[in-house]
Amino acid sequence: MCNNNCRFCVIDHNEKPRNTCFEDIEKELEVFREKGIREIAFVGGEVTIRRDIIEMISLAKKLGYAKIRIVSNGRMYCYPDFLEKIIKAGVNGFTVSIHAHNASLGDYLSRSKGSFTQTTTGIKNLRKMGFIPNINIVINKLNYKHLPEIISLLNSFDINNIRMSIINPEGNAMTNFNEVVPTLTEITPYIKKSAKICDKNNISLTINSLPFCILPECNRYKDEPYNILNKINIKPEKCNSCIYFEVCDGLRKEYAKKFGFKEIMPIKNN
Ligand code: SF4
Repeated sequence: MCNNNCRFCVIDHNEKPRNTCFEDIEKELEVFREKGIREIAFVGGEVTIRRDIIEMISLAKKLGYAKIRIVSNGRMYCYPDFLEKIIKAGVNGFTVSIHAHNASLGDYLSRSKGSFTQTTTGIKNLRKMGFIPNINIVINKLNYKHLPEIISLLNSFDINNIRMSIINPEGNAMTNFNEVVPTLTEITPYIKKSAKICDKNNISLTINSLPFCILPECNRYKDEPYNILNKINIKPEKCNSCIYFEVCDGLRKEYAKKFGFKEIMPIKNN
């Protein structure tokens, strides 16, 4: 369940939402604590619109989780009283997703009028309360040219940790493939510009799902491999000779079906 319906979401919003019930969450929280896990992240859909959100957080705190993070579109944080309640219940880490530099693009992407203003107000409220949220940006065909502006906006909020993920063509993103999926070649100049802004402003940047050979000068920002090869990703035979073969996740299968492997260039020693 989500209060947005993003055009690039990996979830198909025409499908009935699958909400995990409180009892199952309770069991999982107990099991992981017994295994010694001390950090937990609640992710969605959109977890902040669950009626039992306070109970979930309170339970995690009672069980002894030291780090309790919420991954959210941040819209609910525009209500300071809501934010105060979840912080009081035990949340001490925030990750907020934002994918635009202005309301017209943000609301178009989310298909929810007012969502961009709510998210940016939410980020400002978090900052006022002393928290610096980690930020998620999904790079898509509608926002890639504005990545440097998005980074500059976030810099104005004193954000210091940004993760950019290449769109995954599943769910809504697959339905809207032609509108939302850019080629990797198209996005690389904007990733480079964004990385420069991050470096200049001491913002830690992570880039997810970009093969090593596409933008080698930005490989230092690369995220850990997801080990999803043969599940949702694929590598062509020419990758066998690449020095990154073992650590690279290759391309999304649906991306490769549409655009092929011509952008892939194995990197060899010397
Ligand atoms: S050539 Fe293949 S293994 Fe090497 S970086 Fe590119 S996609 Fe990854």
